[in-house]
Amino acid sequence: MSPRTAVELAAAVRSGSVRAGDVVEEYLARIDAREGDVHAFNLVTADAARERAASIDRRVASGDDPGPLAGVVVALKDNLCTRGIPTTCSSRILEGWRPPYDATVVERLAAAGAVVLGKTNLDEFAMGSSTENSAFGPTRNPHDLSRVPGGSSGGSAAAVAADFATVSLGSDTGGSIRQPAALCGVVGVKPTYGAVSRYGLVAFASSLDQIGPFTHTVEDSALLLEVIGGHDERDSTSIPKPALSLRSELGRGVEGLRIGRIADLPAGADPDVLARLDAAFDALAARGATIVDVTVPAFTYGLTAYYLVAPAEASSNLARYDGVRFGLRVDAADTNSMYSATRAAGFGDEVKRRIMIGTYALSAGYYDAYYGKALKIRRLIANDFESAYRDADVLLTPASPTVAFPFGAKGDNPLAMYLCDIYTIPTNLVGHPAMSVPFGTGEHGLPVGVQVLAPTLGEPVMFRVAAALEAAQRESQARSGGAA
Ligand code: GLN
Repeated sequence: MSPRTAVELAAAVRSGSVRAGDVVEEYLARIDAREGDVHAFNLVTADAARERAASIDRRVASGDDPGPLAGVVVALKDNLCTRGIPTTCSSRILEGWRPPYDATVVERLAAAGAVVLGKTNLDEFAMGSSTENSAFGPTRNPHDLSRVPGGSSGGSAAAVAADFATVSLGSDTGGSIRQPAALCGVVGVKPTYGAVSRYGLVAFASSLDQIGPFTHTVEDSALLLEVIGGHDERDSTSIPKPALSLRSELGRGVEGLRIGRIADLPAGADPDVLARLDAAFDALAARGATIVDVTVPAFTYGLTAYYLVAPAEASSNLARYDGVRFGLRVDAADTNSMYSATRAAGFGDEVKRRIMIGTYALSAGYYDAYYGKALKIRRLIANDFESAYRDADVLLTPASPTVAFPFGAKGDNPLAMYLCDIYTIPTNLVGHPAMSVPFGTGEHGLPVGVQVLAPTLGEPVMFRVAAALEAAQRESQARSGGAA
């Protein structure tokens, strides 16, 4: 079998010791064997991947260097635009739409030598925490097919966990990378807002959305961010700086770092998850970090503010799907009836719920009471984090309050589903980076992710801590005889 990580695989392909063409066949064989059960993909672009791999092998043979991701197999969340390749957002309303351009991240992956293998399933328009809201059926968790992979980037998380791709990209508006990463036992990063271009990411809530990687290792996520990060003039919210250098941080250890424990963290996490969080603090302390108690009082209001801000922005962003410019059209007697017939048939229930909440929150007479108040909470959360980061370099929380849950467990109760993101949402509201690192297992032997949070552009210190957690986890696995 070819190497499992992007760093090792790219090194092998660049040196000519492994052929990208063989790598792609290995991945396609695994997909053939298990994708019927997992359903990570909306589309597998096997032929394009084979052609692309062949061209990479030709370049290596002729003495050329295809780049730092040479031959690395990538899966893309199906809300990232790919030129000429269907991009559905797992919604009926976009069926048949082929974007006329590539997202910036897709261009940058290609320029680095990566091979795109397909588009992954998601909750419709990235709204959800289980991938059960996909119009094309759910994705299953590769660790236990009776359970969800998390969401909304469930397909991207499952694709890496099942080794259907070396790495994948997702988007995170309120937790959609970190929560499925936790539930599928892989690394998932939400970068600082503006660190990665959103050009070509289908917009859900533009002030919150960020693209980020899913990988097997912390080092692979660092490499991916170095490739996809950095200024892009086509995204006006992109930070006008080059990508941060992250791989150089990984070996620095955590000695002398201050790791914050949020004393007033909202309750709701299961005991097995909290036990792993405690173990993470212990592991970092054992490596020379200092654990400090901080408070972030407004953290607890994050969910409330998010469910006004995100639907408000979504109701405006999704107004463009009117049967005229994209995908589906349901014909009717006049234009207005065509709009409503198209939207009634094209959007699923959760998307309709968000559009209604958002439209209400923005309507005259309610704007100040709801949307305006949510913006004030956003400011309070930012202030509270700012004072916490005077005492701590990073903060640690659970990524998800529970391990992967069974299908249907929260299906009838939107609030129960929304609570999956209680620990991830505040980060998006303030634009900070955060990542989920696999840190052992909880109930039923299922993966648990610990979330590392850092202030704006604090990715270097966040990755140092993540690398230390990964190393501690590896050591404890080795001690216990290699059990997962
Ligand atoms: N689960 C949250 C929601 O449904 C977050 C989704 C996301 O990050 N895209 O809105």
